[in-house]
Amino acid sequence: MKRVVILGGGVAGTLTANYLVPKIKERIKNEEVQITLISDRNFQIYEPGFLYLIFNRLGEGELKRNLGELLDPAVQLVIDRATKIDADNSRVVTENGSYDYDYLVIATGSRVVPEEIPGLKEGGHWFYNLEGATRLREALAKFNGGKIVVSVMGIPHKCPVAPMEVTFILHDFLRRRNLRDKTELLYTYPINKIFTMDPVVELVQPMFDERGIQYKTFFNPIEVDAKNRKVITLEGEEESYDLLIAIPPHRGAQVIIDSGLGDKGGWVPTDKYTLRVDGYDNMYALGDATNLPVSKAGSVAHFQAEVVAENLAAEIEGIEPTAMFNGKAFCFIETGWEEATYIWFDYFTPPRPVLPSKFVHFVKMAYNKAYWLTARGLL
Ligand SMILES: Cc1cc2nc3c(=O)[nH]c(=O)nc-3n(C[C@H](O)[C@H](O)[C@H](O)COP(=O)(O)OP(=O)(O)OC[C@H]3O[C@@H](n4cnc5c(N)ncnc54)[C@H](O)[C@@H]3O)c2cc1C
Repeated sequence: MKRVVILGGGVAGTLTANYLVPKIKERIKNEEVQITLISDRNFQIYEPGFLYLIFNRLGEGELKRNLGELLDPAVQLVIDRATKIDADNSRVVTENGSYDYDYLVIATGSRVVPEEIPGLKEGGHWFYNLEGATRLREALAKFNGGKIVVSVMGIPHKCPVAPMEVTFILHDFLRRRNLRDKTELLYTYPINKIFTMDPVVELVQPMFDERGIQYKTFFNPIEVDAKNRKVITLEGEEESYDLLIAIPPHRGAQVIIDSGLGDKGGWVPTDKYTLRVDGYDNMYALGDATNLPVSKAGSVAHFQAEVVAENLAAEIEGIEPTAMFNGKAFCFIETGWEEATYIWFDYFTPPRPVLPSKFVHFVKMAYNKAYWLTARGLL
């Protein structure tokens, strides 16, 4: 029997499993192949929903589903934390057991590490995990005017456009609450421009200007002075705040680091086209976990899952795998309370954002509800 082990039950792992099953259904039925998905939690979270949760536009219950509901029943689901990937012996060791594999799919995602910026945990907020988003929702509800700093504290991070989105939505949120005139809004970014992609900068920067949203570039926080409410940067600047909304540094999963499989940031070195882990013929990696020069986005994980599932199915059938990932990404960009645009791009095509509209915003809102069909592999 061939054993496929998928590590991680986020969008990347779940979709890989759900796309793979129909391609090899007969072999699973005949017990020639077994697919096991290992996840350290029994649910999946729809993280894009955090952007709405903090403004009380979506509730926690709308952002969570049990993995058992999302996965094809042909997949064996194991709820356990992997502690080591023993690549030499093709084995995943978990807290409660071990799983030998013929093929391993690494889909362990990324995590925020606010503790890497001294003072950030005490002095700042973020919306990049459920606990942070819930706490920020409370802080925003109580906010009565002052200075809000939205600060990107490291690249790469999940959903590159989310910091701009939250800034735009904040602007309208404050206007709706009659607080915009009493609030200074500052967005900061670590490099020499407000975003990594020039076509997006060309759209967004004038929109920030029109709205009186200030921005600072080359702004790399190294410390937060929680007591005096100041962000201190590598460049020697200090910026005061009343409410700090940080995008904390991100790292790969601990198990990747502990297994010696990651680079300095804990990202898995991966071939940008085949999605094979460098140096390992029987390992694929996808989603946020990789070191690829693509957005850490659910849409990217989705397109990659199609490639990994197709190549795994080919290998199981004894055929040379030929599917290639072309770097495709699709991102909605909310540019206000009820206005959005979108970009798509790949390794060969730069993004060309269209003018924002209400229509695109409502498509995004509809997608927020339809996401669970995507996770099941149905959309
Ligand atoms: C605020 C916000 C807004 C976003 N908006 C968008 C958007 O609009 N569009 C978009 O495309 N993307 C968006 N994203 C990004 C998107 O959510 C992520 O890119 C996506 O979730 C990555 O999926 P993944 O499966 O690779 O990783 P994850 O979703 O992080 O899943 C990894 C899974 O692996 C599990 N795991 C980790 N280590 C272990 C272990 N040792 N043992 C067992 N299990 C383990 C984790 O618990 C987790 O369940 C947004 C993200 C945020 C935070």
